[in-house]
Amino acid sequence: MRKLLIANRGEIAVRVARACQVVGVPYVMVYSEADRDMPYLPTAERAVCIGPSAPAASYLNSQALITTALGTGCDAIHPGYGFLSENADFAASCEGHGITFVGPRSESIGTMGDKLAGRACAMAAGVPVVPGHDVDLTDLPACLAAGRAIGFPLLIKASAGGGGRGMRVVDEESQLTDALQQASAEAQAAFADARVYLERYINPVHHVEVQIFGDGDGKIIELGERECSVQRRHQKLVEESPSPVISDATRTAMITAATQLGESMRYRSAGTVEFIVDSNTQAFYFIEMNTRIQVEHPVTEMVYHVDLVAAQLSLAAGEGIPASLRAARPRGHAIEWRITAEDPLRQFLPTPGLVDEFDMPAGDGVRVDTFVRAGQRLSPYYDSLMAKLIVLGADRDDAINRSIDALMHCRVAGVATPLDVLRRVAEAPAFRAGTVHTGWLEHELAELTAPR
Ligand code: ADP
Ligand code: ADP
Ligand code: MG
Repeated sequence: MRKLLIANRGEIAVRVARACQVVGVPYVMVYSEADRDMPYLPTAERAVCIGPSAPAASYLNSQALITTALGTGCDAIHPGYGFLSENADFAASCEGHGITFVGPRSESIGTMGDKLAGRACAMAAGVPVVPGHDVDLTDLPACLAAGRAIGFPLLIKASAGGGGRGMRVVDEESQLTDALQQASAEAQAAFADARVYLERYINPVHHVEVQIFGDGDGKIIELGERECSVQRRHQKLVEESPSPVISDATRTAMITAATQLGESMRYRSAGTVEFIVDSNTQAFYFIEMNTRIQVEHPVTEMVYHVDLVAAQLSLAAGEGIPASLRAARPRGHAIEWRITAEDPLRQFLPTPGLVDEFDMPAGDGVRVDTFVRAGQRLSPYYDSLMAKLIVLGADRDDAINRSIDALMHCRVAGVATPLDVLRRVAEAPAFRAGTVHTGWLEHELAELTAPR
Protein backbone atom coordinates (compact mmCIF):
# COMPACT_ATOMS: atom_id res chain seq x y z
CA MET A 1 0.00 0.00 0.00
CA ARG A 2 1.58 3.24 -1.18
CA LYS A 3 -0.92 5.78 0.06
CA LEU A 4 -4.42 5.69 1.57
CA LEU A 5 -7.39 7.94 0.91
CA ILE A 6 -9.54 8.41 4.01
CA ALA A 7 -13.04 8.75 2.55
CA ASN A 8 -14.78 10.04 5.67
CA ARG A 9 -14.84 12.85 8.22
CA GLY A 10 -14.97 13.49 11.96
CA GLU A 11 -13.71 11.15 14.64
CA ILE A 12 -13.44 8.12 12.35
CA ALA A 13 -11.26 10.05 9.88
CA VAL A 14 -8.95 10.89 12.79
CA ARG A 15 -9.04 7.26 13.95
CA VAL A 16 -8.06 5.91 10.51
CA ALA A 17 -5.29 8.53 10.26
CA ARG A 18 -3.85 7.28 13.55
CA ALA A 19 -3.78 3.73 12.21
CA CYS A 20 -1.94 4.99 9.11
CA GLN A 21 0.69 6.51 11.38
CA VAL A 22 0.98 3.21 13.27
CA VAL A 23 1.57 1.15 10.12
CA GLY A 24 3.55 3.89 8.35
CA VAL A 25 1.28 4.57 5.39
CA PRO A 26 0.95 8.18 4.13
CA TYR A 27 -2.63 9.36 3.81
CA VAL A 28 -4.80 11.87 1.98
CA MET A 29 -7.91 13.34 3.56
CA VAL A 30 -11.02 14.82 1.97
CA TYR A 31 -13.44 17.50 3.10
CA SER A 32 -16.68 19.16 2.11
CA GLU A 33 -17.09 22.94 2.07
CA ALA A 34 -18.55 22.87 5.60
CA ASP A 35 -15.48 20.96 6.82
CA ARG A 36 -12.74 23.09 5.30
CA ASP A 37 -11.43 24.18 8.74
CA MET A 38 -11.38 20.74 10.36
CA PRO A 39 -8.33 20.64 12.64
CA TYR A 40 -7.26 17.19 11.48
CA LEU A 41 -6.81 18.12 7.81
CA PRO A 42 -3.26 19.53 8.17
CA THR A 43 -2.04 16.14 9.47
CA ALA A 44 -2.58 14.61 6.02
CA GLU A 45 -0.07 14.66 3.19
CA ARG A 46 -2.81 16.39 1.21
CA ALA A 47 -6.40 17.46 1.89
CA VAL A 48 -8.79 17.74 -1.04
CA CYS A 49 -12.19 19.43 -1.20
CA ILE A 50 -14.66 16.99 -2.75
CA GLY A 51 -17.73 19.21 -2.94
CA PRO A 52 -20.49 21.13 -1.19
CA SER A 53 -21.64 20.50 2.37
CA ALA A 54 -24.59 18.21 1.66
CA PRO A 55 -23.38 14.60 2.05
CA ALA A 56 -24.88 13.61 -1.32
CA ALA A 57 -22.63 16.17 -3.00
CA SER A 58 -19.44 15.27 -1.14
CA TYR A 59 -18.91 12.29 1.21
CA LEU A 60 -21.44 10.21 -0.75
CA ASN A 61 -20.04 11.22 -4.13
CA SER A 62 -18.21 8.04 -5.12
CA GLN A 63 -16.91 9.45 -8.38
CA ALA A 64 -15.34 12.47 -6.63
CA LEU A 65 -13.66 10.15 -4.12
CA ILE A 66 -12.27 7.79 -6.75
CA THR A 67 -11.06 10.69 -8.89
CA THR A 68 -9.35 12.19 -5.84
CA ALA A 69 -7.69 8.88 -4.97
CA LEU A 70 -6.39 8.44 -8.52
CA GLY A 71 -5.30 12.07 -8.76
CA THR A 72 -3.31 11.99 -5.50
CA GLY A 73 -1.57 8.67 -6.08
CA CYS A 74 -3.60 6.69 -3.53
CA ASP A 75 -3.89 2.96 -4.18
CA ALA A 76 -6.29 2.25 -1.31
CA ILE A 77 -9.44 3.77 0.25
CA HIS A 78 -10.69 3.38 3.82
CA PRO A 79 -14.41 4.23 3.97
CA GLY A 80 -14.79 4.54 7.77
CA TYR A 81 -18.38 3.94 8.91
CA GLY A 82 -21.61 5.46 7.61
CA PHE A 83 -21.49 7.21 4.20
CA LEU A 84 -20.17 4.79 1.53
CA SER A 85 -18.82 2.16 3.92
CA GLU A 86 -21.64 -0.29 3.22
CA ASN A 87 -22.18 0.58 -0.41
CA ALA A 88 -21.36 -2.50 -2.51
CA ASP A 89 -21.24 -0.48 -5.75
CA PHE A 90 -18.63 1.85 -4.28
CA ALA A 91 -16.46 -1.07 -3.13
CA ALA A 92 -16.77 -2.67 -6.58
CA SER A 93 -16.01 0.63 -8.29
CA CYS A 94 -12.82 1.05 -6.23
CA GLU A 95 -11.64 -2.41 -7.23
CA GLY A 96 -12.63 -1.67 -10.85
CA HIS A 97 -10.25 1.31 -10.81
CA GLY A 98 -7.44 -0.72 -9.30
CA ILE A 99 -7.91 0.82 -5.84
CA THR A 100 -7.93 -1.49 -2.82
CA PHE A 101 -11.12 -1.08 -0.79
CA VAL A 102 -10.13 -1.52 2.86
CA GLY A 103 -12.97 -3.77 3.97
CA PRO A 104 -14.88 -6.82 2.83
CA ARG A 105 -15.53 -7.95 -0.75
CA SER A 106 -18.36 -6.05 -2.44
CA GLU A 107 -20.48 -9.25 -2.54
CA SER A 108 -20.37 -9.51 1.27
CA ILE A 109 -21.40 -5.86 1.58
CA GLY A 110 -24.22 -6.40 -0.93
CA THR A 111 -25.58 -9.45 0.87
CA MET A 112 -25.52 -7.91 4.33
CA GLY A 113 -26.62 -4.42 3.23
CA ASP A 114 -29.91 -6.06 2.37
CA LYS A 115 -31.39 -7.32 5.63
CA LEU A 116 -33.53 -9.95 3.92
CA ALA A 117 -30.54 -11.35 2.04
CA GLY A 118 -28.54 -11.19 5.29
CA ARG A 119 -31.22 -13.17 7.11
CA ALA A 120 -31.21 -15.79 4.35
CA CYS A 121 -27.41 -16.00 4.49
CA ALA A 122 -27.48 -16.43 8.29
CA MET A 123 -30.14 -19.15 8.07
CA ALA A 124 -28.12 -20.98 5.42
CA ALA A 125 -25.12 -20.90 7.79
CA GLY A 126 -27.19 -22.44 10.58
CA VAL A 127 -27.39 -19.22 12.61
CA PRO A 128 -30.67 -18.64 14.50
CA VAL A 129 -32.67 -15.66 13.19
CA VAL A 130 -35.67 -13.91 14.77
CA PRO A 131 -38.90 -15.76 13.84
CA GLY A 132 -40.22 -13.75 10.90
CA HIS A 133 -41.84 -13.55 7.49
CA ASP A 134 -40.77 -12.06 4.14
CA VAL A 135 -43.59 -9.71 3.25
CA ASP A 136 -45.23 -9.83 -0.17
CA LEU A 137 -47.63 -6.89 -0.23
CA THR A 138 -49.66 -8.47 -3.04
CA ASP A 139 -50.53 -11.30 -0.67
CA LEU A 140 -51.79 -9.60 2.49
CA PRO A 141 -53.76 -12.65 3.71
CA ALA A 142 -50.48 -14.59 3.86
CA CYS A 143 -48.89 -11.72 5.86
CA LEU A 144 -51.79 -11.76 8.28
CA ALA A 145 -51.55 -15.52 8.71
CA ALA A 146 -47.79 -15.28 9.21
CA GLY A 147 -48.28 -12.43 11.69
CA ARG A 148 -50.71 -14.52 13.70
CA ALA A 149 -48.36 -17.46 13.68
CA ILE A 150 -45.39 -15.35 14.83
CA GLY A 151 -47.52 -13.60 17.47
CA PHE A 152 -48.03 -9.94 18.41
CA PRO A 153 -46.42 -7.48 19.01
CA LEU A 154 -44.59 -7.62 15.70
CA LEU A 155 -41.81 -5.50 14.27
CA ILE A 156 -41.91 -4.36 10.64
CA LYS A 157 -38.42 -3.75 9.29
CA ALA A 158 -37.23 -2.21 6.05
CA SER A 159 -34.84 -4.54 4.26
CA ALA A 160 -32.68 -1.54 3.32
CA GLY A 161 -33.01 0.18 6.71
CA GLY A 162 -30.18 1.18 9.01
CA GLY A 163 -29.03 3.64 11.65
CA GLY A 164 -32.10 2.83 13.75
CA ARG A 165 -34.44 3.87 10.93
CA GLY A 166 -37.08 1.88 9.09
CA MET A 167 -38.62 0.00 12.04
CA ARG A 168 -42.18 0.05 13.33
CA VAL A 169 -43.87 -1.91 16.12
CA VAL A 170 -47.36 -3.33 15.49
CA ASP A 171 -49.26 -4.16 18.67
CA GLU A 172 -52.30 -5.90 17.26
CA GLU A 173 -53.63 -7.74 14.28
CA SER A 174 -56.13 -5.05 13.24
CA GLN A 175 -53.26 -2.60 12.58
CA LEU A 176 -51.09 -4.95 10.55
CA THR A 177 -52.15 -4.38 6.95
CA ASP A 178 -52.24 -0.58 7.25
CA ALA A 179 -48.91 -0.56 9.05
CA LEU A 180 -47.32 -2.76 6.37
CA GLN A 181 -48.45 -0.48 3.56
CA GLN A 182 -47.27 2.64 5.40
CA ALA A 183 -43.92 1.10 6.35
CA SER A 184 -43.34 0.01 2.79
CA ALA A 185 -44.14 3.49 1.44
CA GLU A 186 -41.80 5.03 4.02
CA ALA A 187 -39.05 2.60 3.12
CA GLN A 188 -39.46 3.49 -0.55
CA ALA A 189 -39.16 7.19 0.31
CA ALA A 190 -36.23 6.84 2.73
CA PHE A 191 -34.15 4.06 1.16
CA ALA A 192 -35.51 3.87 -2.44
CA ASP A 193 -36.44 0.25 -1.64
CA ALA A 194 -39.98 -0.69 -0.61
CA ARG A 195 -39.24 -4.19 0.69
CA VAL A 196 -40.21 -4.82 4.31
CA TYR A 197 -40.43 -7.93 6.48
CA LEU A 198 -41.91 -9.03 9.78
CA GLU A 199 -40.08 -10.10 12.90
CA ARG A 200 -41.30 -11.11 16.31
CA TYR A 201 -40.86 -8.04 18.53
CA ILE A 202 -38.92 -9.39 21.46
CA ASN A 203 -39.26 -7.44 24.70
CA PRO A 204 -37.39 -7.07 26.99
CA VAL A 205 -34.33 -7.68 24.86
CA HIS A 206 -30.59 -7.11 24.93
CA HIS A 207 -28.40 -6.17 21.99
CA VAL A 208 -25.20 -8.22 21.98
CA GLU A 209 -22.84 -8.34 19.00
CA VAL A 210 -19.74 -10.29 18.07
CA GLN A 211 -16.62 -8.72 16.56
CA ILE A 212 -15.05 -10.87 13.89
CA PHE A 213 -12.06 -10.39 11.61
CA GLY A 214 -11.61 -12.57 8.53
CA ASP A 215 -8.67 -13.15 6.22
CA GLY A 216 -10.90 -13.56 3.14
CA ASP A 217 -9.91 -17.20 2.71
CA GLY A 218 -12.22 -18.66 5.35
CA LYS A 219 -10.17 -18.04 8.49
CA ILE A 220 -12.13 -16.07 11.10
CA ILE A 221 -10.72 -14.59 14.31
CA GLU A 222 -13.34 -13.74 16.95
CA LEU A 223 -12.75 -10.92 19.41
CA GLY A 224 -15.57 -11.54 21.83
CA GLU A 225 -18.79 -9.65 22.19
CA ARG A 226 -20.07 -6.18 23.01
CA GLU A 227 -23.21 -5.37 24.94
CA CYS A 228 -25.02 -2.38 23.37
CA SER A 229 -28.35 -2.27 25.19
CA VAL A 230 -28.24 1.35 26.34
CA GLN A 231 -29.99 2.85 23.30
CA ARG A 232 -32.05 5.83 22.20
CA ARG A 233 -34.11 5.70 18.98
CA HIS A 234 -32.84 2.12 18.42
CA GLN A 235 -29.30 3.53 18.35
CA LYS A 236 -26.49 2.79 20.74
CA LEU A 237 -25.32 5.31 23.33
CA VAL A 238 -23.17 3.16 25.66
CA GLU A 239 -21.34 -0.06 24.78
CA GLU A 240 -19.21 -2.45 26.76
CA SER A 241 -17.23 -5.64 26.55
CA PRO A 242 -17.68 -8.29 27.81
CA SER A 243 -21.48 -8.42 28.09
CA PRO A 244 -22.67 -8.54 31.72
CA VAL A 245 -25.87 -10.28 30.65
CA ILE A 246 -25.11 -13.49 28.82
CA SER A 247 -24.03 -16.74 30.42
CA ASP A 248 -20.78 -18.43 29.40
CA ALA A 249 -22.79 -21.03 27.49
CA THR A 250 -24.68 -18.33 25.55
CA ARG A 251 -21.42 -16.48 24.86
CA THR A 252 -19.78 -19.60 23.45
CA ALA A 253 -22.80 -20.45 21.30
CA MET A 254 -23.11 -16.89 20.00
CA ILE A 255 -19.44 -16.60 19.12
CA THR A 256 -19.60 -19.98 17.38
CA ALA A 257 -22.61 -18.82 15.35
CA ALA A 258 -20.90 -15.56 14.32
CA THR A 259 -17.73 -17.42 13.36
CA GLN A 260 -19.73 -19.92 11.30
CA LEU A 261 -21.43 -17.07 9.44
CA GLY A 262 -18.09 -15.39 8.73
CA GLU A 263 -16.62 -18.69 7.51
CA SER A 264 -19.58 -19.36 5.23
CA MET A 265 -18.98 -16.00 3.51
CA ARG A 266 -15.18 -16.32 3.55
CA TYR A 267 -15.49 -12.89 5.17
CA ARG A 268 -12.63 -10.44 4.83
CA SER A 269 -11.62 -7.66 7.26
CA ALA A 270 -13.51 -6.40 10.32
CA GLY A 271 -17.21 -7.16 10.70
CA THR A 272 -19.86 -7.29 13.38
CA VAL A 273 -22.58 -9.88 13.72
CA GLU A 274 -25.48 -8.38 15.68
CA PHE A 275 -27.82 -10.44 17.82
CA ILE A 276 -30.67 -9.76 20.17
CA VAL A 277 -30.93 -11.83 23.33
CA ASP A 278 -34.28 -12.54 24.96
CA SER A 279 -33.88 -11.33 28.56
CA ASN A 280 -36.17 -14.04 29.87
CA THR A 281 -34.75 -17.09 28.10
CA GLN A 282 -31.21 -16.11 26.94
CA ALA A 283 -32.25 -17.32 23.48
CA PHE A 284 -30.30 -15.31 20.90
CA TYR A 285 -31.18 -14.39 17.34
CA PHE A 286 -29.22 -12.85 14.46
CA ILE A 287 -30.59 -9.41 13.45
CA GLU A 288 -28.00 -8.12 10.97
CA MET A 289 -24.34 -7.97 10.10
CA ASN A 290 -22.44 -4.70 9.76
CA THR A 291 -19.73 -5.08 7.13
CA ARG A 292 -17.46 -2.30 8.38
CA ILE A 293 -15.52 -1.01 11.34
CA GLN A 294 -18.07 0.03 13.93
CA VAL A 295 -18.41 3.12 16.08
CA GLU A 296 -17.94 1.02 19.21
CA HIS A 297 -14.87 -0.94 18.04
CA PRO A 298 -12.61 0.70 20.69
CA VAL A 299 -14.12 -1.27 23.59
CA THR A 300 -12.92 -4.44 21.89
CA GLU A 301 -9.52 -2.86 21.20
CA MET A 302 -9.13 -1.92 24.87
CA VAL A 303 -10.06 -5.37 26.20
CA TYR A 304 -8.05 -7.30 23.59
CA HIS A 305 -5.13 -4.85 23.35
CA VAL A 306 -5.31 -4.74 19.56
CA ASP A 307 -5.62 -2.14 16.81
CA LEU A 308 -8.45 -3.26 14.53
CA VAL A 309 -8.01 -0.43 12.02
CA ALA A 310 -4.26 -1.04 11.70
CA ALA A 311 -5.12 -4.74 11.21
CA GLN A 312 -7.52 -3.78 8.40
CA LEU A 313 -4.70 -1.84 6.72
CA SER A 314 -2.18 -4.69 7.11
CA LEU A 315 -4.62 -7.21 5.67
CA ALA A 316 -5.49 -4.89 2.77
CA ALA A 317 -1.77 -4.47 2.09
CA GLY A 318 -1.52 -8.24 1.59
CA GLU A 319 0.25 -8.98 4.86
CA GLY A 320 -2.47 -11.27 6.24
CA ILE A 321 -3.99 -11.00 9.70
CA PRO A 322 -1.41 -9.58 12.15
CA ALA A 323 -0.01 -12.12 14.62
CA SER A 324 -1.02 -9.78 17.47
CA LEU A 325 -4.65 -10.18 16.46
CA ARG A 326 -4.42 -13.96 16.12
CA ALA A 327 -2.90 -14.21 19.60
CA ALA A 328 -5.20 -11.66 21.27
CA ARG A 329 -6.87 -12.66 24.55
CA PRO A 330 -9.31 -10.53 26.58
CA ARG A 331 -8.28 -8.85 29.81
CA GLY A 332 -10.43 -6.47 31.87
CA HIS A 333 -13.63 -4.66 31.04
CA ALA A 334 -14.16 -1.62 28.80
CA ILE A 335 -17.10 0.79 28.47
CA GLU A 336 -17.66 3.39 25.72
CA TRP A 337 -19.73 6.52 26.30
CA ARG A 338 -20.85 8.38 23.18
CA ILE A 339 -20.64 12.14 23.65
CA THR A 340 -22.96 13.60 21.04
CA ALA A 341 -24.26 17.11 20.36
CA GLU A 342 -27.83 16.10 21.20
CA ASP A 343 -30.43 17.32 23.64
CA PRO A 344 -31.77 14.51 25.84
CA LEU A 345 -34.60 16.83 26.92
CA ARG A 346 -35.80 16.97 23.30
CA GLN A 347 -35.70 13.28 22.29
CA PHE A 348 -31.97 13.49 21.66
CA LEU A 349 -32.46 15.96 18.83
CA PRO A 350 -29.11 17.01 17.31
CA THR A 351 -27.92 20.43 18.56
CA PRO A 352 -25.20 21.63 16.17
CA GLY A 353 -23.53 24.97 16.85
CA LEU A 354 -20.44 26.55 18.34
CA VAL A 355 -18.58 24.47 20.95
CA ASP A 356 -17.33 27.04 23.46
CA GLU A 357 -15.60 24.69 25.82
CA PHE A 358 -14.36 21.18 25.23
CA ASP A 359 -12.29 19.41 27.85
CA MET A 360 -11.85 15.64 27.92
CA PRO A 361 -10.20 13.54 30.62
CA ALA A 362 -6.96 11.60 30.20
CA GLY A 363 -5.06 9.06 32.24
CA ASP A 364 -4.53 5.38 32.80
CA GLY A 365 -7.12 3.29 30.98
CA VAL A 366 -8.87 6.35 29.55
CA ARG A 367 -9.11 6.81 25.78
CA VAL A 368 -10.84 9.66 23.96
CA ASP A 369 -11.50 9.44 20.21
CA THR A 370 -12.53 12.87 18.94
CA PHE A 371 -12.08 15.53 16.28
CA VAL A 372 -13.54 18.42 18.27
CA ARG A 373 -11.73 21.35 19.85
CA ALA A 374 -12.98 24.35 21.80
CA GLY A 375 -14.07 27.08 19.41
CA GLN A 376 -15.12 24.64 16.68
CA ARG A 377 -18.48 24.94 14.95
CA LEU A 378 -20.45 21.71 14.45
CA SER A 379 -22.21 21.51 11.12
CA PRO A 380 -25.89 20.52 10.96
CA TYR A 381 -25.13 18.44 7.86
CA TYR A 382 -23.52 15.51 9.63
CA ASP A 383 -23.78 13.00 12.45
CA SER A 384 -23.91 14.47 15.96
CA LEU A 385 -21.09 12.33 17.41
CA MET A 386 -18.43 14.58 18.97
CA ALA A 387 -16.33 12.19 20.98
CA LYS A 388 -16.15 8.70 22.36
CA LEU A 389 -14.88 8.21 25.89
CA ILE A 390 -13.63 4.66 26.42
CA VAL A 391 -12.61 3.47 29.87
CA LEU A 392 -10.79 0.24 30.72
CA GLY A 393 -11.00 -1.31 34.18
CA ALA A 394 -9.72 -4.50 35.77
CA ASP A 395 -13.31 -5.73 35.97
CA ARG A 396 -16.77 -4.27 35.35
CA ASP A 397 -17.09 -2.54 38.74
CA ASP A 398 -13.69 -0.96 38.28
CA ALA A 399 -14.60 0.18 34.74
CA ILE A 400 -17.83 1.77 36.04
CA ASN A 401 -16.02 3.52 38.91
CA ARG A 402 -13.39 4.87 36.55
CA SER A 403 -16.12 5.90 34.10
CA ILE A 404 -17.91 7.93 36.78
CA ASP A 405 -14.68 9.76 37.48
CA ALA A 406 -13.82 10.25 33.79
CA LEU A 407 -17.34 11.51 32.96
CA MET A 408 -17.04 14.05 35.80
CA HIS A 409 -13.97 15.42 34.04
CA CYS A 410 -15.72 15.89 30.68
CA ARG A 411 -16.67 19.51 30.11
CA VAL A 412 -18.57 20.63 27.03
CA ALA A 413 -20.26 24.04 26.73
CA GLY A 414 -22.08 25.73 23.87
CA VAL A 415 -24.04 22.73 22.62
CA ALA A 416 -26.36 20.38 24.52
CA THR A 417 -24.93 16.95 25.30
CA PRO A 418 -26.14 13.85 27.10
CA LEU A 419 -23.18 14.03 29.52
CA ASP A 420 -25.39 14.41 32.56
CA VAL A 421 -27.53 11.47 31.44
CA LEU A 422 -24.39 9.40 30.88
CA ARG A 423 -23.19 10.24 34.42
CA ARG A 424 -26.50 9.11 35.86
CA VAL A 425 -26.45 5.94 33.79
CA ALA A 426 -23.00 5.20 35.22
CA GLU A 427 -24.37 5.73 38.73
CA ALA A 428 -27.67 3.88 38.22
CA PRO A 429 -28.13 0.69 40.28
CA ALA A 430 -29.74 -1.06 37.28
CA PHE A 431 -26.70 -0.31 35.12
CA ARG A 432 -24.39 -1.45 37.90
CA ALA A 433 -26.41 -4.65 38.17
CA GLY A 434 -25.80 -5.23 34.45
CA THR A 435 -29.43 -5.96 33.65
CA VAL A 436 -30.50 -3.04 31.46
CA HIS A 437 -32.36 -3.90 28.27
CA THR A 438 -32.79 -1.86 25.07
CA GLY A 439 -35.90 -0.01 26.30
CA TRP A 440 -34.38 0.96 29.66
CA LEU A 441 -32.86 4.35 28.82
CA GLU A 442 -35.99 5.75 27.19
CA HIS A 443 -38.15 4.33 29.98
CA GLU A 444 -35.99 5.97 32.65
CA LEU A 445 -35.34 9.18 30.75
CA ALA A 446 -37.59 11.42 32.87
CA GLU A 447 -35.70 10.28 35.96
CA LEU A 448 -32.29 10.50 34.27
CA THR A 449 -32.95 14.09 33.16
CA ALA A 450 -34.76 15.37 36.27
CA PRO A 451 -33.00 18.25 38.05
CA ARG A 452 -30.68 16.95 40.78
P1 ADP B 1 -22.59 1.34 14.87
O1 ADP B 1 -23.62 0.34 14.41
O2 ADP B 1 -21.33 1.35 14.09
O3 ADP B 1 -22.37 1.32 16.32
P2 ADP B 1 -24.54 3.28 14.14
O4 ADP B 1 -25.57 2.22 14.07
O5 ADP B 1 -24.90 4.52 14.93
O6 ADP B 1 -23.17 2.77 14.70
O7 ADP B 1 -24.20 3.66 12.65
C1 ADP B 1 -22.91 4.08 12.26
C2 ADP B 1 -23.00 5.28 11.38
O8 ADP B 1 -23.66 4.95 10.19
C3 ADP B 1 -23.74 6.42 12.00
O9 ADP B 1 -23.09 7.58 11.62
C4 ADP B 1 -25.12 6.30 11.37
O10 ADP B 1 -25.75 7.56 11.37
C5 ADP B 1 -24.77 5.82 10.00
N1 ADP B 1 -25.78 5.00 9.30
C6 ADP B 1 -25.86 3.67 9.23
N2 ADP B 1 -26.84 3.26 8.41
C7 ADP B 1 -27.43 4.38 7.94
C8 ADP B 1 -28.51 4.64 7.03
N3 ADP B 1 -29.19 3.66 6.41
N4 ADP B 1 -28.83 5.91 6.80
C9 ADP B 1 -28.15 6.90 7.38
N5 ADP B 1 -27.12 6.72 8.22
C10 ADP B 1 -26.74 5.49 8.50
P1 ADP C 1 -30.13 -1.04 12.32
O1 ADP C 1 -29.69 -1.44 10.96
O2 ADP C 1 -30.96 0.18 12.33
O3 ADP C 1 -28.99 -1.03 13.28
P2 ADP C 1 -31.00 -3.50 13.66
O4 ADP C 1 -31.71 -4.63 13.01
O5 ADP C 1 -29.59 -3.71 14.01
O6 ADP C 1 -31.16 -2.19 12.76
O7 ADP C 1 -31.81 -3.11 14.98
C1 ADP C 1 -31.51 -1.96 15.73
C2 ADP C 1 -32.08 -2.10 17.14
O8 ADP C 1 -33.51 -2.31 17.10
C3 ADP C 1 -31.54 -3.29 17.92
O9 ADP C 1 -30.35 -3.00 18.56
C4 ADP C 1 -32.68 -3.52 18.92
O10 ADP C 1 -32.63 -2.57 19.97
C5 ADP C 1 -33.91 -3.23 18.09
N1 ADP C 1 -34.46 -4.46 17.47
C6 ADP C 1 -34.17 -4.93 16.24
N2 ADP C 1 -34.86 -6.06 15.96
C7 ADP C 1 -35.62 -6.31 17.05
C8 ADP C 1 -36.59 -7.32 17.39
N3 ADP C 1 -36.92 -8.30 16.54
N4 ADP C 1 -37.18 -7.26 18.62
C9 ADP C 1 -36.88 -6.25 19.47
N5 ADP C 1 -36.01 -5.27 19.21
C10 ADP C 1 -35.37 -5.28 18.02
MG1 MG D 1 -27.81 -2.63 13.82
